[in-house]
Amino acid sequence: MRILMIAPPGAGKGTQGALIAAHFNIPHIATGELLRDHVARRTALGQSVKGYLDRGELVPDQIVLDMVRDAMIAAKAAGRGYVLDGIPRNMEQARAAYEIARELGMTADVALHLQADDAELTRRLLARAALEHRSDDTAEVIAQRLALYHEVTAPIVAWYRDRGILVTVDAMRSAHEVGREILVTLEAMRPSLEHVPADELPMDLTGLGEAFGAAGPAASTSE
Ligand code: ADP
Repeated sequence: MRILMIAPPGAGKGTQGALIAAHFNIPHIATGELLRDHVARRTALGQSVKGYLDRGELVPDQIVLDMVRDAMIAAKAAGRGYVLDGIPRNMEQARAAYEIARELGMTADVALHLQADDAELTRRLLARAALEHRSDDTAEVIAQRLALYHEVTAPIVAWYRDRGILVTVDAMRSAHEVGREILVTLEAMRPSLEHVPADELPMDLTGLGEAFGAAGPAASTSE
């Protein structure tokens, strides 16, 4: 299972990403978590991104793309599945993430889009602010993150719709209900997604090109 998630702040990406990862036993690659971890450990990278996180702005693309490339290489070694949470957030990241995945033979099977309205998202994020102390869960920064989502992230949903891998889920319900719908949907898709890479096929297909003619099925690629 190779899944990427697109959702506004507060829709439940982190919660649902962890659920999907546990259910399918695949790595959960959460860019926001990775960045916050750098900030907490006061690494050089952490120092350089802290301001962006505090202001609710996107950190420079190259920083997240480098992190994602490393995480994807590790995911490949661990069995090729993954759930990406937090990237892509704009069209450049969508294209670059696709290129990285393609080089590794690990392009996403599903783009999972969680949908919720701004009033509900703001309510959830303010409620979370009272429990956790994320530097970006203040009314002003929440408004900035939501505006950024609508402006640069939401438009990429259409790109995944055009590629035929978009699954949209209504996230205006409890985490439990949303999680159940996600897992039921992904389980229903699973049989058609478990594709065996061509180089691991158990039989010799080298003669098929001639049998079907040059324009036959053997001439098409699996991507
Ligand atoms: P949320 O979706 O609730 O804002 P995240 O944990 O996904 O939470 O992201 C928190 C912050 O981390 C973002 O506001 C941004 O500053 C940074 N960030 C995370 N992912 C990316 C990304 N792909 N590109 C740029 N910045 C990112």
